[in-house]
Amino acid sequence: MARILLVEDDPALSRGIIAVLKAAGHAAHCAKDGETALLLADAEPCSLVILDIGLPDISGFEVLKRLRARGSKTPILILSARDHVTDRVKGLDLGADDYLLKPFNARELGARVRALLRRDGGDPCPVLVIGNLTIDRSRATAEVCGRPLQLRRREWAVLDRLTAKVGDVVSKERLIAEVFNYDDAVARNTVEVYVARLRRKLEPDGPAIKTLKGLGYMLQAS
Ligand code: CA
Repeated sequence: MARILLVEDDPALSRGIIAVLKAAGHAAHCAKDGETALLLADAEPCSLVILDIGLPDISGFEVLKRLRARGSKTPILILSARDHVTDRVKGLDLGADDYLLKPFNARELGARVRALLRRDGGDPCPVLVIGNLTIDRSRATAEVCGRPLQLRRREWAVLDRLTAKVGDVVSKERLIAEVFNYDDAVARNTVEVYVARLRRKLEPDGPAIKTLKGLGYMLQAS
């Protein structure tokens, strides 16, 4: 169980988010404006802050800036209807750990909360969130923006290897070894075919799979 501070001025949305957090076994306390959020963050240490940007007094960006200026290292998840890339970049540059666009799916919120708490040393969890992609290793399923991907067994296996090393290069040889069990009959271009199919299934909102000539593939978070 984690203590989570929710900063959200919309009462209906706030109730919905608190229900999601409680269902996951967390204790949530809520601030309806930025100044209250800063007071609560000081008074009661928490494991995660979920922060709306459009608040009635100071903006969520300002709350974020002041929390980080005070040296707070608490993970912060921004919730915002502002989908412009400059807002996302601003939030992340100011020290947010993740950015979720409104309206969002309750399951995705749950998965991102798990991911952030895990990063902070919380319970290990088989669900991994990379940008708009959520994968659940225990069920071998993947979703992009809440849309389930129909993956064949080896497509799943390739995706699983790439997500395990997100931001790093995974060589073709390694994919042949781990996904195709060193099957020599697997031509190198078979791997290319699987990667190409996977790319199509991840498009347009999922993470990109970059080809690094002569080296292999890399899954990019954004
Ligand atoms: Ca708001």
